[in-house]
Amino acid sequence: MFLDDYLSNLPRKSLVLAESALPFLFSNQNVEILSKGTKMRNATGTTDDSIEYDGKQYHNMIELWETLTEEEAPSCVNEKCQSSPYEENDVVGAHVVKSGENTDLSDGDKVFIIPLCRKCNHHKNNKLIVLKRDTPAVVLKWTK
Ligand SMILES: [Zn+2]
Repeated sequence: MFLDDYLSNLPRKSLVLAESALPFLFSNQNVEILSKGTKMRNATGTTDDSIEYDGKQYHNMIELWETLTEEEAPSCVNEKCQSSPYEENDVVGAHVVKSGENTDLSDGDKVFIIPLCRKCNHHKNNKLIVLKRDTPAVVLKWTK
């Protein structure tokens, strides 16, 4: 008897589709495991991005990482991390590319989200990042 009310409160697909026209789109919804020892570098120009996934807007990439990997963010995964143990546990979802790939992202480039501390994630930090353990990474495609 309250069917009309129920139907009008269902999520509307058209809204979700409209909102998904954002700078980022998923290339797929997969998580890729990057092996221990993989060399990565910070991608540039990714500050202030956001992404919609499953009807929710994510500005915080570590939250997105935790949602998709179903893991709790570990401490910084960079073997070369120079942070104190306290700083090492304060992680963010960092945008990285494999070493040797273009760090200045162009349309269609693949970018990974991995947990790094704030020092290792700094946009001016172009030092090599070496994974200290097998690390699940969220795979995104950069679309401008
Ligand atoms: Zn670090």
